[in-house]
Amino acid sequence: MTAILKNFIGGEWVDGSGVTRNINPSNTNDLVGEYAKADKAQTEKAIAAAKAAFPAWAQSTPQARYDALNKISLEILSRKEELGRLLAREEGKTLPEGIGEVARAGQIFAFFAGEALRLIGEKGASVRPGLDVELTREPMGVVGMITPWNFPIAIPAWKIAPALCYGNTVVFKPAELVPGSAHALSEIITRSGIPAGVFNLVVGSGSVVGQTLLDHPDVAAISFTGSVQTGRKIAQACVLSNPMKKFQLEMGGKNPLVVLDDADLKTAVEVAVNGAYFSTGQRCTASSRLIVTEGIHDRFVAAMAERLKGLSVDDALKAGVHIGPVVDQSQLDQDLRYIKIGQDEGAKLAWGGELLKRETPGHYLQPALFTEANNNMRIAREEIFGPVAAVIRAKNYEEALAISNDTEFGLASGICTTSLKYASHYKRNSESGMVMVNLPTAGVDYHVPFGGRKGSSYGAREQGSYAREFYTTVKTAYTFPG
Ligand code: ADP
Repeated sequence: MTAILKNFIGGEWVDGSGVTRNINPSNTNDLVGEYAKADKAQTEKAIAAAKAAFPAWAQSTPQARYDALNKISLEILSRKEELGRLLAREEGKTLPEGIGEVARAGQIFAFFAGEALRLIGEKGASVRPGLDVELTREPMGVVGMITPWNFPIAIPAWKIAPALCYGNTVVFKPAELVPGSAHALSEIITRSGIPAGVFNLVVGSGSVVGQTLLDHPDVAAISFTGSVQTGRKIAQACVLSNPMKKFQLEMGGKNPLVVLDDADLKTAVEVAVNGAYFSTGQRCTASSRLIVTEGIHDRFVAAMAERLKGLSVDDALKAGVHIGPVVDQSQLDQDLRYIKIGQDEGAKLAWGGELLKRETPGHYLQPALFTEANNNMRIAREEIFGPVAAVIRAKNYEEALAISNDTEFGLASGICTTSLKYASHYKRNSESGMVMVNLPTAGVDYHVPFGGRKGSSYGAREQGSYAREFYTTVKTAYTFPG
């Protein structure tokens, strides 16, 4: 029997009321750990602790915040293999992907350690004679964080690091499916020297812990990543709460990858396979619509099928595996449902889509490639969040661009071409937050903004120095020196 891992509230590790079981999707007989679930009262305690800790943390020196964030970064980076293994075991992405994600979390804390030292205000002349005008940024207060299961350490890192950097206090609610990485990250944060109450971990359900954060007047802001459906509820709750909360939402995608006749075929196939299927397609930036012009279409489809045959789908922790399992049974059911929908709609399942048996019982799904799809089909309009992509044929670049933009979403988009003219035109005219040329739609840098348009995102961008828009509020001060 392993111990039930606890929540962290007001500087103490505390038991919960109920338990979340963390199951390895590569081997459902493997229990990764058991985690105490917080209830409403404990969530309220965490909010109260964060509120009490806020004034002192808001006034702390940039040096103190740099030191804490830098310490967190160093510990994450020095333990990236061990933490990457835990992440791959609980979420199902491959070990190299898991280690890469942990390293990313460490880099993000290092970046925001530096940002704590770079928060300098502005001073200018007034339009009225003799007055000074100063602009400064102040922290928001208590920030609630609600995160999804697909990036169990990177997404929490890119919310918690800027929140602490700018002097906010945090109540962190990770996704119930992956509490292991969240717990390990929290332990590291508790060792960084920050005062009690500045950071709190409350594992639990969206309907209890998440809802308490949304309803509570002492939570000033909510940063959310997850589904569109939940995002809408969060937006409503934040607007209806009194006082209203600031909020930012990162939600779904139906990201297009355009492949033009003049693309380098090998590059296009690598970009498409990586974007559509790596991390089991469970990325909001995954390329799920492959929009391919006529002159390269058949060669592209043939090369994709060939490449897919060579991919190994197996236990995420095994060496040489390209694609791990789907995260859980309910996500697998959704993937299979969409594969059936695609066939019923008249798309051709050109490759994959079968359940696979491996040594251990896990949620193994062969990557699925549809061809003969059109952009009105549900498989081209709704986010599936699995290793399923659809090839849509386009007459030419102009039609490919129109299809690319014909979506409710607007997170990431990509084009494979050797033409500067088309690359430049696409970068300017693609209606998405992040545009990639000859690169997968998934895979971003941590020092520049991340986010999208239309139904994909709402509110200020995350990551890079743009993160300060969300985690601070601007004060304009006027002085008449006399
Ligand atoms: P996913 O498909 O990634 O699970 P969800 O939007 O369902 O997307 O979940 C993302 C996060 O939002 C999770 O931490 C989940 O617990 C939380 N959540 C779900 N429903 C609610 C809700 N009604 N209020 C607040 N948080 C919620």
